[in-house]
Amino acid sequence: MSSGGIYPKPKPFSYHDNAEEEEGLLSGTSEHSERQPWSRKKVVGVAAFFILLLISGAFIRTLLRGPIVHPNSMWYTGSDTQTNGTHEFKRTVVIVSIDGLRADYLDRGLTPHLLSISKNGLRAKSMRPIFPTLTFPNHWALMTGLYAESHGIVANNFWDPASKTEFWYNRIESCWKSEWWFGEPMWETAGKAGLITANLMWPGPPKTTSGASSTYFVPWEDHVPLKNKHDQIMKWIDLPLRERPQLIMAYEPSLDQAGHKTGPMSALVNKTLGAVDAFAKDLQESLKSRNLTDIVDIVFVSDHGMTDTSDPELIYMDDIIGEDGLKAIEHEDGWPAMGLRFLPTANVTHYLNLLLKASDENPEKFDVYTHDTMPERYHFSHHERIAPIYIIPKIGYVLTTKAEGNVGMSKGNHGYDNEATPMQAMFIAHGPFTTDVKASVKGQQKDKLNTNWHSTSNDAFIMDRFQNVEIYNLIMKLLGIEAYAANNNGTVGFWDKYL
Ligand SMILES: [Zn+2]
Repeated sequence: MSSGGIYPKPKPFSYHDNAEEEEGLLSGTSEHSERQPWSRKKVVGVAAFFILLLISGAFIRTLLRGPIVHPNSMWYTGSDTQTNGTHEFKRTVVIVSIDGLRADYLDRGLTPHLLSISKNGLRAKSMRPIFPTLTFPNHWALMTGLYAESHGIVANNFWDPASKTEFWYNRIESCWKSEWWFGEPMWETAGKAGLITANLMWPGPPKTTSGASSTYFVPWEDHVPLKNKHDQIMKWIDLPLRERPQLIMAYEPSLDQAGHKTGPMSALVNKTLGAVDAFAKDLQESLKSRNLTDIVDIVFVSDHGMTDTSDPELIYMDDIIGEDGLKAIEHEDGWPAMGLRFLPTANVTHYLNLLLKASDENPEKFDVYTHDTMPERYHFSHHERIAPIYIIPKIGYVLTTKAEGNVGMSKGNHGYDNEATPMQAMFIAHGPFTTDVKASVKGQQKDKLNTNWHSTSNDAFIMDRFQNVEIYNLIMKLLGIEAYAANNNGTVGFWDKYL
């Protein structure tokens, strides 16, 4: 077995233990009855599915095969390697997602190590997630540089009219089907360029429709200690040159889970914040001890923020569209925003008018959009997977029914307007590229860099907020594989100002 399989064996799983994140509240419809925590039967079913996959050889190939070395790889010429004093290294990027790390968590005085890393490197004031501000749409945006209407993951759960099936983020048999995932993730692009890649639980499929997979793949498992994740990343870093990944992607959900469970202002969030900060420190220290801080770029991102929903104002759908309206809903997508598909027999215009009227009368509470009226800035209309009617509550408001009330509601949530301050994500990086940026800023003076950067007395640089669809192009640039980059929604030349 190659060193790709150095992590514990994959187990069946569900993303996020707290299924509240996207728990719909219009229960009573058949799809809601399926949103219960997994029964033993379901777990066994998934286990059986997993065994079938193993038998098919798909995962054996993924997990056991050695690194692919393409003859056209520009990084295997030998001329681009650097030494850390003992070993040769090629350009290497580690990108770590800390789920649900709201941008202003960094102002709490609880993340000295992340701030220290950012002072030695750089950070952005915040990073704007795509709409909807949910985990799966945003992790795939980070991987592909695409908005939801382009990459197809339009919520954590949604109905696809083309295949007449439902996407479930927390069911492997659903969400690992490559057909759901459009666009080219950075690990696929890197693979095309001949680079070795490693994926530690990043939300998304193990394979794309073209059959591409990361060289090393560790599937999701909940409650994996941060030390194990650190050790896995460093084991990859410590591999021999010809087996070592140049792009490592890693995912950590504990802070998001804490935010849902007890709210963004809770002691549990602060404690977990300290733990992920220590994880960042350990990673940085391990790179430092290997003399790799000038060779490896490490990028910390989050997918979205978190807002307090412990005492929300409830909006009762039955008050708006009536009991008959609730019964006429065939599919309900997403949470806390709500995409509605009514039964073919329903008078859709009637219910849409009722929703629009209620929104007009309560503009502070929620908005109602169709594909034609959806704000352009959401980039959330040009895809048939996006339900024809979308209700988007404002922060502080929750859509529910009288039968549901506020039962089972989480203390924190996200999924709201991607311009809202509590929804903003974070970006912190350190490595040779941040050193280059600082040199560039100092050398080229303010006229060229006046709008996006400023320095402070402690030599820190803070970028203005940018959107997370720019990350794909950044990683392409850091790996030197821009020529291979797929089309994406990132701004052309965005990083050229700095690198
Ligand atoms: Zn998330």
